[in-house]
Amino acid sequence: MRAFLTALAALFFTCGLSAQETTPPQEPLEPAVNPIVEATNAPDMIIWGGPIYTANDANSQVAAVAIKDGRFIYVGTREGAEALLDDTTTIFSLNGAALYPGFVDGHAHLEGIGQRELSLNLEGITSLKALKETVLAWRAGHPEEPVLVGRGWIETHWPEGRFPTRWDLDMVIDDVPVILGRADGHALVANSKALEMAGISGGTAAPFGGEIIKNALGEATGVLVDTAQELVVPLIPTPSTADITARLLKGSDVYARYGWTGLHNMSVPWQQVGLLEDLSDGGRIGIRVYNSIVPEAAELLFEGGITESSNRRIITRAIKLYMDGALGSRGAALLKPYSDANTSGLLLSTRAETMPLLERALQDGFQVNMHAIGDRANRQLLDWFEEAMANVPPIDRAVEDPRWRDEHTQIVNMDDMLRYNALGIIPSMQPSHAIGDLHFAPARLGDDRLVGAYAWSTLIGSGARIVGGSDAPVERGDPLIEFYAATARRDLNGFQGVNWHPEEALTRSEALKMFTLWPAIASFQEDEIGSIEVGKQADLTAFDIDLMTATEADIPKGSAVLTIVAGDIVYNKRAEAEEASETGAAPAQRDGEQTDGKQGDGETASPGITGESTHDDGAPSPNA
Ligand SMILES: [Zn+2]
Repeated sequence: MRAFLTALAALFFTCGLSAQETTPPQEPLEPAVNPIVEATNAPDMIIWGGPIYTANDANSQVAAVAIKDGRFIYVGTREGAEALLDDTTTIFSLNGAALYPGFVDGHAHLEGIGQRELSLNLEGITSLKALKETVLAWRAGHPEEPVLVGRGWIETHWPEGRFPTRWDLDMVIDDVPVILGRADGHALVANSKALEMAGISGGTAAPFGGEIIKNALGEATGVLVDTAQELVVPLIPTPSTADITARLLKGSDVYARYGWTGLHNMSVPWQQVGLLEDLSDGGRIGIRVYNSIVPEAAELLFEGGITESSNRRIITRAIKLYMDGALGSRGAALLKPYSDANTSGLLLSTRAETMPLLERALQDGFQVNMHAIGDRANRQLLDWFEEAMANVPPIDRAVEDPRWRDEHTQIVNMDDMLRYNALGIIPSMQPSHAIGDLHFAPARLGDDRLVGAYAWSTLIGSGARIVGGSDAPVERGDPLIEFYAATARRDLNGFQGVNWHPEEALTRSEALKMFTLWPAIASFQEDEIGSIEVGKQADLTAFDIDLMTATEADIPKGSAVLTIVAGDIVYNKRAEAEEASETGAAPAQRDGEQTDGKQGDGETASPGITGESTHDDGAPSPNA
């Protein structure tokens, strides 16, 4: 994909623009005395013509960057960059867009993102009735599928006001198994055929850490929570390597289009590690992937050590564990019962099986990323991590500061809030969860427990650095929705609710670091990526919106226009539009994006990466 897009960009720059447009006003260069040396010293690429935010506090806004051999060689004024270029330099004008360090999704699932695009996608379904219609329509288009598998429904806004059941699904399909995952991945609904084939009835006992939901008559309703979902997994055909490859390629393509230069890939099966490395080294996946593997593969990672692709874009050095379930399905483990049900949630790990793993990871230098949502789960995570660190003091560790992470950190008792910074544990949080959960979390938790829920600003104030993520495909995985959620703490309609603690919203510069510098730290890569600084890898994201000055409501309306990894163009919106208009094809459209003229032909005034603009740079930094 990278090679293909780079080829598109090359085509664009040779035929789409005149030489005059690509060359800025300047004095003629001195004749080259030694063209070889000159070609070696000039930048490959210069970008200017819009605000450039660096996420580097010492130099937070600049007017130009110059890139050579995939790294920044100059970060500063336009005049300074002009002095470096020659006729081998490609010049990009932001033309109204704004440039940032490469945005990194600190918690996502790459295979799932691709799978969502390639299979029955139930995102955005607005009622149980619509769910049934969508399932029926998919069946009509895919009559050969032996099992119908979909994902992405969420019932919290539905007029029916309840979970779907097997009887709902039986009304539309009763001859083949139907298995539909809830958006959060922590529950599914299956039809009667699927339950029958999996041997699930009202008398079936749920496995540890799971629940088989039953009605008043003791019958299984078809809803399976957390580990109980595994009971129907044997019915789903095992994807072939070709299927998985297609998903990974689709997922990384979608992510480059969103503007992500990388993601922290959670719960990765071991066989995907080598596959991702091959796809990256072969130039088919351009974005960076930092893998956190499933616990079953921990022994393989311990034995093999940290692995990387030859190009170092795929790095595997972490293990993903689970402490509890999710709040929506009441699987999150709470210190006191839920406010709206007689349960305190589900703990999914035992100390006896987890502690040896934690100690081994510390000794051998691996990162641990553990899912914890409820206040009980978060406290237990802090307790276990603290105990393991006491048992394996720094002198006995392969990596002194292990940078272990608490994935989600959603509901934290105020007594535990300072322990993150004190123990060096990194909260890994997903702003979009907070703006989806605000519709039901008050009912689940009660107002008192909302203090310490999604407490971004309190955690940063305590000295912790938060790695920001989306948890896609649980959420859409759009960096602009995440940035909006982090700074507005309102849903996409602007709704917040009375006790949703607006003081926990972040500043624009904090939110920028949450998706750039802090993910780099949380993956041991801050010397290479995370900010725009001379010597670092040239990972860049340009959006058609200035995230530091735009009105809140405008932020999610923007889109990515340019994504660059180590100097390689992995997405160029305008070049694709140009190419499409030349071939007569419609430009590839970002999933879910409206055809509103923003994305159309290259002749409109749409922001994009083009030739010269007269945009005035050098305004004082809003972060200074
Ligand atoms: Zn996740």
